[in-house]
Amino acid sequence: MEVHQHPEKKYYLITDESRCKGCGLCIAFCPKNCLGFSDEYNDKGWRVAKMQRMRDCIKCYMCERSCPDFAIFIDENEQTEKEELLKEEKTQEEKKN
Ligand code: SF4
Ligand code: SF4
Repeated sequence: MEVHQHPEKKYYLITDESRCKGCGLCIAFCPKNCLGFSDEYNDKGWRVAKMQRMRDCIKCYMCERSCPDFAIFIDENEQTEKEELLKEEKTQEEKKN
């Protein structure tokens, strides 16, 4: 999971790399060109979609709606829940380094 918080607004874009099959639909449908392909591949061998410009995101939900695998979505839930995800992600990154 990768969590991106909008720098000014209270919502998050979450990508679940394990579900992504690299079809590129979310990238093609994003009207603000926020998304692109990662340099990394998931366990299934797909080059996954990645948020590249969260600041430009307008929360239009096109990425979420276009993804056939529920691998990318907007989340507006409680701040605390997201903070847990961000913490978990940070811990995983620290383990990698
Ligand atoms: S919500 Fe809209 S603007 Fe934001 S990443 Fe998804 S498609 Fe792009
Ligand atoms: S639409 Fe879904 S499966 Fe396709 S690249 Fe985007 S996140 Fe991955």
